[in-house]
Amino acid sequence: MTQERELFIGGEHVPALSGERMPDWDPYSGETMATVAAGGPKDAACAVDAAAAAFGPWASTAPAARRRLLLAAAEGLEARAKEAADLMTAETGAIGPWGHFNVALAAEMFREAASLVTAPAGEVLSTSVPGALSVALRQPAGVVAAFSPWNAPIILGVRAVAAPLAAGNTVVLKPSEHAPITAGLFIAEVLADAGLPAGVLNVVTSQPKDAPGVAEALISDERVRRVSFTGSTRVGRTIGELAARHLTPAVLELGGKNALVVLEDADLDYAVNAAAFGAYMNSGQICMSADRVIAQRAVAGELAERLAAKAAKLPAGDPRDPGTLIGPLITPGAAQRVGELVEEAVREGAKVLAGGAPPERSVLQACVVTGVAPGMRIEKEEIFGPVCTVTTVEDDEEAVKVANSTSYGLTAGVVTEDLRRGFAVAQKLRTGIVHVNDQPVDDEPQAPFGGTGDSGYGRFGGRAGIEAFSETRWVTLQSSHRAFPF
Ligand code: NAD
Repeated sequence: MTQERELFIGGEHVPALSGERMPDWDPYSGETMATVAAGGPKDAACAVDAAAAAFGPWASTAPAARRRLLLAAAEGLEARAKEAADLMTAETGAIGPWGHFNVALAAEMFREAASLVTAPAGEVLSTSVPGALSVALRQPAGVVAAFSPWNAPIILGVRAVAAPLAAGNTVVLKPSEHAPITAGLFIAEVLADAGLPAGVLNVVTSQPKDAPGVAEALISDERVRRVSFTGSTRVGRTIGELAARHLTPAVLELGGKNALVVLEDADLDYAVNAAAFGAYMNSGQICMSADRVIAQRAVAGELAERLAAKAAKLPAGDPRDPGTLIGPLITPGAAQRVGELVEEAVREGAKVLAGGAPPERSVLQACVVTGVAPGMRIEKEEIFGPVCTVTTVEDDEEAVKVANSTSYGLTAGVVTEDLRRGFAVAQKLRTGIVHVNDQPVDDEPQAPFGGTGDSGYGRFGGRAGIEAFSETRWVTLQSSHRAFPF
């Protein structure tokens, strides 16, 4: 049955001021699974009003109470795991295991945030002024404008708000139009059920045409003191520019063009499984997906063949079928684009070892492409589909050079049985994250997560997240009168 969802402002489910609604499509069936209120800049302003009104009381809520609430949200989310996973399947085409993984990791993100509510306390500083106590205090920043994408909606919707809330801020969350429920409204429901006071988290859903207006209304509001954005580099750049114009600090978690470097001593069974997981999990629609496998000549040929044999056997299709591993892409248009990237590469001389057939609506088979060249679009653009390229290199130096030949810098993996050599290669890769003897897709709530270059700046995770969403103030208490020079 089609669900109907409204905006969530000041603790109330309210329609958009314009009365407009938008369809929320199931990417596999193409049917409308929900209709959602289509908010605009005026709704965003109302949401900031609510968040600003809730800021004072929430910022002064005892840390223990905030901690209990975030722990309750973790429990509440886990209790609704099946419902959440089913919603993710309906909204984004996610297969069940991806939905359940989203719930499990997001629940741990709430718990990690709960463990950090006391972390913003600050530090005592030494001072040369007699009679002074000098401290650095961490204080909530204000209202946070948060933007979440659709591809890991529950993880990234929760990530967008958990640290800001733990640090005592209030939030207006604008979820992706492809996942307005799971990247936004559902998360607000879980937090409200856990006891989050009205106005502390508000959700404004909008149509794509209104997204720039909503972003402008949020970020240009002087009460908004931090921006949390996870999404594409194209949109992130405009968000970063807008935030900079208003001198509002932002965390920008953007796209990737991640490399999995396979050295000649790698265990090939392990390397094949690592590459398949890194490239095809969630149909390759993860910012950390391994778009590029860069393998040394001794292993490249066999690795590519064995990866292709594995890819050809990965069942693609209906995300509700428990046997499916490659679900649909987010839209037929996205599948078309990825299919064209492969076709274009083949026209320019590349070879397809598995997959490569045109999409059936939004479903693509897992694909392996070899013989790619640096100028090809498939080697430059983030693929965001179940496709990886395998490139042969001669030595460690060339592997590093090829891996670094991208403007992105999110994550990377180096597969080798020699940790010392792997570490030496990893040290030369220009990314915010690198895993030695592992593939690039990994996230833990306590680890600093973020990229360099076109993958953005700032970090979520652990203390880094709390620091990003709080203000450090230097405060002194002078117990005796100072001697002034005049
Ligand atoms: P997107 O940039 O299209 O959307 C992200 C958010 O921006 C959504 O809330 C969307 O509604 C909003 N938005 C869209 N157009 C806008 C505009 N013109 N002005 C203002 N806001 C706008 O990204 P997406 O398609 O939802 O997500 C996929 C992208 O996100 C990929 O590039 C992926 O690599 C990246 N991503 C990065 C991370 C990370 O942690 N680095 C995690 C997940 C996804």
